[in-house]
Amino acid sequence: MNKKVSNAYAGFAQRLGLQMDPSGGLYGQRGGYAWTIFAPDPRYPYQLLVTTPAHRPAGALNKEDVRQFRREHKEVFIFNQRQNDVSITVRVKGAKGGERLESAMNAFIELLRTQSFRPCCQNCGQELPVEGYFVSGGYMQVCDSCAQALKQSHNTAQTQRAQKSENVAGGIVGSLIGSLLGVLCIVLLSQLGVVAALSGLIMAVCTLKGYEMLGGKLSNRGIVISIVVMIVMTFVGDRIDWAILVSQQLEMPLPMAFQAVPVLLAEEIIVPSAYWTNLVLLYVFMLGGAVPTIRSSIRNRRFVNLVYRLGHPPVEL
Ligand SMILES: [Zn+2]
Repeated sequence: MNKKVSNAYAGFAQRLGLQMDPSGGLYGQRGGYAWTIFAPDPRYPYQLLVTTPAHRPAGALNKEDVRQFRREHKEVFIFNQRQNDVSITVRVKGAKGGERLESAMNAFIELLRTQSFRPCCQNCGQELPVEGYFVSGGYMQVCDSCAQALKQSHNTAQTQRAQKSENVAGGIVGSLIGSLLGVLCIVLLSQLGVVAALSGLIMAVCTLKGYEMLGGKLSNRGIVISIVVMIVMTFVGDRIDWAILVSQQLEMPLPMAFQAVPVLLAEEIIVPSAYWTNLVLLYVFMLGGAVPTIRSSIRNRRFVNLVYRLGHPPVEL
């Protein structure tokens, strides 16, 4: 989280009388309900999910009441009711972000009260005192016994995960299969006359996912192997694409056309600038797909199976 976002969140916490966890989100009590507030997608830090564990003995709110609430409060753009919690999503970008968040929350609290929502545990639904917990990257407000159970089951999962070894050979096969999908996209999209850039993105995502699926997990080694595979295969895919064009124009078989590409390029029968622009574009979009996929994978690796009471992280986050 960058400094600007972190400062903005600290401001929200102060304004709302909540605490801020080192992982970035807010938690605490307000208006008789327990709250967690965080950005579920770190790429959009100003779309905050505001959740309270509560249920309604009379059953879920009807659609018309929800629509009415959203009409009256434009800053709320998603309203979500589940068995043991209710949440709204609020956009808080800009100077008035804190104000919008506060007014959305106040209106939400008012709605919960008038509709007789009762605070409960977000996991078991019993009406017990709750505390905020960080659970595998998300936040929950749960009772003491649920917190113990969550920790226990995550410890077990963590042990199993650590034991699960990486299958490098499987990973390489997986990344190759994934990259073939990317090659297919480069060729097909280009034949359809669509800008091939999108295929670079697909190449990156499929190669990484392919490694993860057949390799068991995406380790640092897996990331390096996948990057090498996607760089080579993007080059190959682009060359096949040109070879198809050459074989059509010069009426020669595809394998021969594939071999002829460098010669035609050297003699400027294929316009070098067109060739290189296309290739660079593919690589740029490949990076555009690879970077977020790798980042979210590394983030998940750190957070998966991590459970702690909010405000008390066991490790430096
Ligand atoms: Zn519980």
